Amino acid sequence: MDESFDAFVVRRHGDDVERAIEKMQVDDLPDGEVLVAVQWSCVNYKDAMASAPGHRVARVSPLVPGVDLAGVVVGPGHSALTAGTAVLAHGGDIGVGRHGGFAGYARLRAEDVVPLPAGLSARQAMIVGTAGFTAALSIDELERHRLRPGDGPVLVTGASGGVGSVSVALLATRGYEVVASTGKDDEHPWLASLGAARVIGRQELDEAPGRVLGSELWAAAVDCVGGDTLARVLRTLRYGAAVAASGLTGGSALETTVFPFITRQVALLGVDSVSTGPGLRRQVWQRLAGDLRPPDFEALVDSEIGLDAVANALDRILHGGVRGRILVRLDHGPAL
Ligand code: NDP
Repeated sequence: MDESFDAFVVRRHGDDVERAIEKMQVDDLPDGEVLVAVQWSCVNYKDAMASAPGHRVARVSPLVPGVDLAGVVVGPGHSALTAGTAVLAHGGDIGVGRHGGFAGYARLRAEDVVPLPAGLSARQAMIVGTAGFTAALSIDELERHRLRPGDGPVLVTGASGGVGSVSVALLATRGYEVVASTGKDDEHPWLASLGAARVIGRQELDEAPGRVLGSELWAAAVDCVGGDTLARVLRTLRYGAAVAASGLTGGSALETTVFPFITRQVALLGVDSVSTGPGLRRQVWQRLAGDLRPPDFEALVDSEIGLDAVANALDRILHGGVRGRILVRLDHGPAL
């Protein structure tokens, strides 16, 4: 295939980063078993870290970021992933160590590619994206830890962002009583519309400043903020409850004591979407098309953009200014 296509490319020069839309050829793509014509990608916090100076997330330069994508297999395909199969892909080193979704085509390892579950379009899959998959994985982990609807309030931190907003919608769909915590006062009505029974300000989490334990408030929590926020969540979980921790927008250091663990038997469950095995990955995507299917995908969309607006979107997400999910549309014309 000698067709050229547009790609958003990040080049590192020492501490500086250069970002531009460039023309690429399929031959420029890394090795892999599956060539995908990318129809949709989305902007995740990790893409911003991979594209900004001062972060060590990107492992190659030049790099096409985009840690996830959805599209159609072209070329000979591989095993069950034959030409024409609608697929999504994320995880592994996509968008950090090999070119990712912000380009017309991506060549991928078969293990990172998932056939699109029945009933889920490529666009819907990228409204969910890595952030939404992480939300679903967090809920799956909490349910393996015996959480059930009716157990009591489930806290979601960083609720207006990608992981947070999808968590609110999915938990509400499953019948949980959701309490959403956000730093954005003007997003309270939107979070209520996604299904939050109550929306609280970020500062309200600091329920017991200076104490090792606070009131037993939460039957469980989904936390993508980390830092002081996660420490506060640990102090206020109910006896035997768990928090699923996936992120670090509020900081990577965790200052806590052992008291929540040894006197309330709380559990800190780590959530990693990058190295999820293929079995669990497909299972969670099936849930996203089934019992965890968002009731209103469009309500989760911050904006739909082309490659020309990706740089601006990366800056917005790095500064915590996004509401929900940013979709990236790749144009292939009528050929696909
Ligand atoms: P977003 O930027 O969309 O959302 C993050 C939210 O965190 C913001 O919207 C804001 O929500 C809140 N926030 C931002 N800055 C601060 C701060 N200083 N203190 C407290 N809260 C803050 O990012 P994503 O949802 O895409 O990702 C969230 C985190 O999860 C990131 O750290 C990301 O790297 C991580 N992640 C991890 C994955 C894994 O596999 N473990 C997979 C996907 C994401 P609000 O204003 O509502 O409080």
